[in-house]
Amino acid sequence: MSEELKEKWRAEAGGQGFEFFGVVDAAELAKVPFPPHRLLDTPYGFLPDAKSVIVLGMHIWEPMFNAVITSVIPDGAIPFDDVPGSQYYNFYYELTEVRAHRVARVIREDGYKAVVDHFVHEKAAATLAGLGWIGKQTLCITPRLGPRVRWCTVMTDAVLPYDEPFKEDLCGDCEMCVQACPTKAIIPGPSQGVEPGKKVDFWKCIVPQEVLAEPNEDWHKYAKKYSVRCCTECLICHDVCPIGKEEHERRVKEYSTKPMA
Ligand code: SF4
Ligand code: SF4
Repeated sequence: MSEELKEKWRAEAGGQGFEFFGVVDAAELAKVPFPPHRLLDTPYGFLPDAKSVIVLGMHIWEPMFNAVITSVIPDGAIPFDDVPGSQYYNFYYELTEVRAHRVARVIREDGYKAVVDHFVHEKAAATLAGLGWIGKQTLCITPRLGPRVRWCTVMTDAVLPYDEPFKEDLCGDCEMCVQACPTKAIIPGPSQGVEPGKKVDFWKCIVPQEVLAEPNEDWHKYAKKYSVRCCTECLICHDVCPIGKEEHERRVKEYSTKPMA
């Protein structure tokens, strides 16, 4: 029965655009340490009686999926939702969450609890679910599309068949992301075995600048801006990754040559 449910929910997720689907034992994910100050929690922080964590991954084939819009706030406070009067919209969070909620609705209709959230340690969850390898820039890289995937998770009290962790080292001797980072934020060497949060120097990385009222010069140089507070994040270590690049580019070309109706 649980195998049937898993396949049913996999098909539902596929219909919502999630071509990656895996299941982790909530207790195993809860054992994985995560960096502090990133709003992360174990699955139990979102669903106290969680048994399974369903990991959903979507191919990010259009640059605007990476769009971020933040409000400017004069005191320099971080404009996350929990700061009064501030706004922060990250399009791929919104997109994957909305679609994961549609999957969660089906899970609830089948009689189980289902909670959608982005703030379990998703990259670790994706690796435990057998979907990819934590690359040297700390993104979860998939064999098919490399890091060009965004993740969302659904915690449920259903006990499902768990997937096997991903074991193949997809990076090997490659250091392309380390070399390409313009601020040298990525510490050379493998990601595995490094204390959580120590592989990429958070405040050297350009991405967190987007949440500041006054982003630094690197943000102005490397984040692609569409308006005063709308940009796509620095994607240099993401775009350079050779894993899955060919398939990604093949799809982008295919989708781009189909005219809109
Ligand atoms: S996002 Fe940009 S700044 Fe951050 S680690 Fe990657 S290449 Fe470096
Ligand atoms: S660019 Fe190379 S080192 Fe970096 S994640 Fe991709 S394969 Fe690994």
